[in-house]
Amino acid sequence: MIIATKISEVRAQVAAWKKEGLTVGLVPTMGYLHEGHASLVDKAVEMCDRVVTSVFVNPTQFAPGEDLETYPRDFEHDCTLLKAHGCHLVFHPEVSEMYAQDAATYVEILSEMPKQLCGQTRPIHFRGVCTVVSKLFNIVIPDKAFFGQKDAQQLAIIRRMVQDMSYGIEIVGCPIVREDDGLAKSSRNTYLNSEERQAALVLSKSIFLGQQMVKDGERDADKITAAMRTMIEGEPLARIDYVSAVDGVTMMPIHRIEGSVLVAIAVYIGKTRLIDNFIVEE
Ligand code: AMP
Repeated sequence: MIIATKISEVRAQVAAWKKEGLTVGLVPTMGYLHEGHASLVDKAVEMCDRVVTSVFVNPTQFAPGEDLETYPRDFEHDCTLLKAHGCHLVFHPEVSEMYAQDAATYVEILSEMPKQLCGQTRPIHFRGVCTVVSKLFNIVIPDKAFFGQKDAQQLAIIRRMVQDMSYGIEIVGCPIVREDDGLAKSSRNTYLNSEERQAALVLSKSIFLGQQMVKDGERDADKITAAMRTMIEGEPLARIDYVSAVDGVTMMPIHRIEGSVLVAIAVYIGKTRLIDNFIVEE
């Protein structure tokens, strides 16, 4: 497995692969990798001849006061996991390699879409995500790129950006990988102490409750989110950021379950903000 820290190294390697007629998949990550990330790499290995994984904690998607400095990092462990899953190249740049001091260009979706859900408390987040993903697309020029349904709004936004900017890249969404007890895997789970880890189960429990209500025929989205909300409010360590049902493509609020719907939640457990969701496709 090649470890590249420079943009020029990635470009040269990908060009050599393309010359051989090989297809290239990209898995963007912020590192501290777990089985959720590994599932994206597995899918990429299955669908592409060569797989590039980026490990980069992107400063432009963190607002002042968020966890940029404390975000967990363990590049050695990341490399071990990536190698075991058949990744061919890890791109691990310094911040200075990705952003010149005088960088002044952003990629930003100007509709209401990035202002919904996580955008309400993280107003500059998706501008940072779109900017870094667009840079990674320009550096790697992959045939396909792999994103987790765990970050459902991010996935929808990337699909919008790819369409709007005419990136000829296929976006592959991959299902949420969970711990045995249901908690969605996340690098941020490491922030939880043992009491909080137990309390965090209320996220997945409320997701499963919502899913069951849909399965049982409930079509009133407000009733579903209200029941989920009540369940989360029963956990003393939990504080709700949002519990919302939105259109699966536009991310705008809906009241009835029909077509493609995303039911998404963000909940603080102590100081740690966790997200989870389920989709309904009818
Ligand atoms: P991150 O390192 O948190 O930026 O995540 C990198 C990619 O991995 C994103 O596309 C995430 O949606 C995806 N991902 C993170 N956690 C999971 C999970 N539990 N299941 C599936 N994909 C995930």
